[in-house]
Amino acid sequence: MEEVYRHACEVIPGGVSSPVRAFGSVGGTPVFLSAARGPHVVDINGREYVDLVCSWGPALLGHAHPEVVAAVQEAATRGLSFGAPTTAEVELADLIRGRIPFAEKVRFVSTGTEATMTAIRVARGATGRDVIVKFAGCYHGHSDALLAAAGSGVATAGLPGSAGVTQAAARDTIVVEYNDAEALKAVFAERGSEIACVITEAAPANMGVVPPDPGFNATIRRLTLEHGALMILDEVLTGFRVGPAGWWGNEASLGEAPVTPDLVTYGKVVGGGLPLAALAGPSELMDLLAPVGPVYQAGTLSGNPLATAAGIATLRLAHNAVYAHVDRASRQVQDALAAALDEVGLPHRIQTAGNLFSCFFGEEAATHGVRNYDQAKAADGFRYAPFFHAMLDAGVALPPSVFEAWFLSAAHDDAALNRIAEALPAAARAAAS
Ligand code: PLP
Repeated sequence: MEEVYRHACEVIPGGVSSPVRAFGSVGGTPVFLSAARGPHVVDINGREYVDLVCSWGPALLGHAHPEVVAAVQEAATRGLSFGAPTTAEVELADLIRGRIPFAEKVRFVSTGTEATMTAIRVARGATGRDVIVKFAGCYHGHSDALLAAAGSGVATAGLPGSAGVTQAAARDTIVVEYNDAEALKAVFAERGSEIACVITEAAPANMGVVPPDPGFNATIRRLTLEHGALMILDEVLTGFRVGPAGWWGNEASLGEAPVTPDLVTYGKVVGGGLPLAALAGPSELMDLLAPVGPVYQAGTLSGNPLATAAGIATLRLAHNAVYAHVDRASRQVQDALAAALDEVGLPHRIQTAGNLFSCFFGEEAATHGVRNYDQAKAADGFRYAPFFHAMLDAGVALPPSVFEAWFLSAAHDDAALNRIAEALPAAARAAAS
């Protein structure tokens, strides 16, 4: 593995195509994978791991679900890319609309980054305003405007933002502490007439899992409406993963009225493991996009036939039983994790957003919970590296950063869950030492 990594570093910056994969915050040599099936990934030496990364979310059904693979294979026999409209795009848009009634129109792009970037452009086009508001620790991809105080890999690397982002782009982004309704009110009181939109992760899972306080999303909705700004709900991670209608749909089951945003973004699960993402919303806003309206967006591979085939097959298979299974599997792993950490007396807090969860270590997190990015950073994140490596040694692949969620899938069966449970006690001891 070391030799492959050394060569990779000679030809690819950091040896990776996306920073967190480099194991920067957990140390050691990244594991190069050659295959993924069901609940497992397989490294280039043929070693199999139970996978709790699930490609960072897309593999809701497990890796390489036979029906998804068959759909992609069948699509491939008809051509890899047309650069022209297809009926499959229309079918996928209809499937999304069937689950998300306010998503009257859908535009397909290739990555979550493009989806949020385009949603921001629509918001600016709709309002004629420049300023956007995001929350510290929320990650919305790597477009310039959204890199300030971002979670995910930016958090893992400990960066306040990114070099190469112009001061003008940074100036137009106001960053507010997550779950701080008063701070958001103050920003609107001061600059409400300049604000084009507030973008928020539906339930943040890129600073670890930090769910919205009850009513927080509703406060964003109310303030944006009052001030003529748009609300963009980023469901790239949560969409079609935490429930059939994403976090938006789940809020109803939490006893809250779901907060309906102006625009919503999807990625990951909606592409079934291939590069596909989307933004959606009411026709009035979506028709601002070219060719109907003046807001430009395009993509050579947008709506790619293989990706749409994977998305259609995935959404068709992602029925209620899938979500019930993933929820159950997630709770089982959480329970085993809590028991292992309790056994060694390590204070911790497991936080959830539907079937997504992550674990914060330390007395403060255990006692008070984690409600924002500062608190997430203040937790005992140093305990994660030994924990992660003990799990890896035992054949369980966790996300290589304490700031990422753990992902289960419909393919995590009893055998996979047992392997995780068996690995946890030694990992808990490593974290506690
Ligand atoms: N939005 C959220 C909430 C995400 O979690 C991510 C990626 O992790 C993105 C946007 C960006 O998506 P992509 O990596 O496909 O560009």
